[in-house]
Amino acid sequence: MAFSLSVTQEQLVHWRRALHQHPESSLLEFWTASYLAEQLTALGCDVKVGGEVMDRASIMGSPDDAVKQHAQEVALAQGASAEWLDRMEGLTGLIVDIRPDLPLHTVLRFDFDAVDVDESDSAEHKPSREGFRSLNEGRCHACGHDGHATIGLGTALELMRRRDSLRHNVRLIFEPAEEGTCGAEPMVSAGAVEGARYFFSAHIGASMTRPHSLACGTYGFLASTRFDVEFSGRAAHAGIDPHVGRNSLMAAACAVSNLLAIPRHGKGVSRINVGRLEAGSGRNVIPAHASLMCETRGSTTAINEYMFESARRIVESTATMYEQEYAIRLMGRASTAESDAEMRDLVRKVSAEIPYFHQDKVEDLGPGFGSDDVCAFIEAIQKQGGKGTYAQIGSHLPAGHHNERFDFDEELLLPAVELFCRMALELDARN
Ligand SMILES: [Zn+2]
Ligand SMILES: [Zn+2]
Repeated sequence: MAFSLSVTQEQLVHWRRALHQHPESSLLEFWTASYLAEQLTALGCDVKVGGEVMDRASIMGSPDDAVKQHAQEVALAQGASAEWLDRMEGLTGLIVDIRPDLPLHTVLRFDFDAVDVDESDSAEHKPSREGFRSLNEGRCHACGHDGHATIGLGTALELMRRRDSLRHNVRLIFEPAEEGTCGAEPMVSAGAVEGARYFFSAHIGASMTRPHSLACGTYGFLASTRFDVEFSGRAAHAGIDPHVGRNSLMAAACAVSNLLAIPRHGKGVSRINVGRLEAGSGRNVIPAHASLMCETRGSTTAINEYMFESARRIVESTATMYEQEYAIRLMGRASTAESDAEMRDLVRKVSAEIPYFHQDKVEDLGPGFGSDDVCAFIEAIQKQGGKGTYAQIGSHLPAGHHNERFDFDEELLLPAVELFCRMALELDARN
């Protein structure tokens, strides 16, 4: 079936490069959210932002107010809309309903945050060579989410053109903070997928590193919990009063040895990492403060819970042993989810209509790549009896994800828009 697209490759590349130049960290995507809101409004979409699309109480690992304020000032200086920033109330998620007058049926999701890495300025790196390298030091679209948001804009344009023929509402979710695995849960809590029957999303690259390839679903995501630990003891003179001190450094060191020694789970993959330990104030002072940055993972949500509960017990017990005050702060959480076979089959069927995808390079499933926030949406949809899948759109990658030289083939943008649009229309035809 021939499919006429209105959006042009030129327009998609324009959007992608604008987004690529303005990479922002999780929960601080003010320029990006404002840009997306403006572009979507120009396409005739009704854009929802703020507390209506993100439940503030469910946000983990939120940067403090001063950091958020600074990020908004930078965004404004780079041309973000003051009016949209006002309406966002500090929250960066967006939702577009193509037919808000009809019941919610299909959800498409696009993430748009960046990675905290300095982009390469080598002439071999295309964004640098062609003048659309990151304007924000220490931030880079090194995971392809600039491409995801671009595909979202293209899909919005195409679905708006076809809105009169839709039988149900199709919702486009623009999710912030995927990298922090803290963007999806507040959107799910705000009801973003409530009542929906079908869910489709995709990642550029991931395990599919050949051009024209496609994985119709993903397996093997690890559920994950990210958390910070604080120990507070009592400072004292190390020569005169060591017995008066309560040593937080010692407590943290003891906790680390025990955290890394949690027995691994026998029923699947389990992981724990302590990525950072900071403690103490000076050579002759009993350390009265220590902090740890940790994460657990598991091949099922239950195995990850086992790892996190064990970690919590160790922190609590160590605090008792060394007479410390302690706090555990949740910074992010990802569940695990399986792509439904029925949805994978539909992706395969739809892709066969798009010449860009070579059928000998279309696979049923690609392996998961660590943890992805998309699982929170799929899990929520499946819990209410719906179905979902997470595809992987193949691309040649000059360097892996999160590397300073990461880039993807811009040629995939147009066929990816067609894939999302065709999926939405196929699903809309179902009950
Ligand atoms: Zn990433
Ligand atoms: Zn990613």
